[in-house]
Amino acid sequence: MLSKQKTMEALTKMYDMFPEAHGELKHRNPYELLIAVILSAQATDVSVNKATPALFEAFPTPEKLAAAPIDDIIPKIKTIGLYRNKAKNIKACAQQLMDRFSGQVPQTREELISLPGVGRKTANVVLGDAFGIPAIAVDTHVERVTKRLRICKLNASVLEVEETLMRKVPKELWVKTHHTLIFFGRYHCTARSPRCEVCPLLDMCQDGKNRMKEKTLNVK
Ligand code: SF4
Repeated sequence: MLSKQKTMEALTKMYDMFPEAHGELKHRNPYELLIAVILSAQATDVSVNKATPALFEAFPTPEKLAAAPIDDIIPKIKTIGLYRNKAKNIKACAQQLMDRFSGQVPQTREELISLPGVGRKTANVVLGDAFGIPAIAVDTHVERVTKRLRICKLNASVLEVEETLMRKVPKELWVKTHHTLIFFGRYHCTARSPRCEVCPLLDMCQDGKNRMKEKTLNVK
């Protein structure tokens, strides 16, 4: 595994590559971000961003969403995967915001996780992006990149990936690291075609070196 120092070296190169890394879900307030993140489970941010402007125009507050019939919510999010379940979840979530939190999005992980459709990853995104509270949300990109670079153990669970990153990265860099790892995984170290041949991290990436070796052997 990469040491704390090597991990920061790797991350610094990624920060340089993607200085503009940021959350890509469109939102104007914590309520909209929370709903957008719930909708983004097993769906792309692009598909969520296409649907949410009309959704939030129709239901601009938790109060409006909580009071809406499911059949009015479904058509607004029909282009997003698992929309039936998600319609139920966002309505139930809005109801809980009204019943338990006076229509406000709570600012602790425990309270966020207690809401329908909200898991640890969603809670961490909301903490970091809506409230600036340090948190690292581990999605498929964060997990893949940190394992390829051996920042984390290959058999680490999602929670272990998060805990390893929290140990190795200073707290004030957690949110930036989360966004940078996602950009790096989405646009450079992709699942199918990582760009190892032009990667500034190749010298510290065993996975990348193995891939390059395989490519050379295939050419011969
Ligand atoms: Fe990803 Fe390849 Fe770079 Fe390693 S060398 S971090 S596998 S792109």
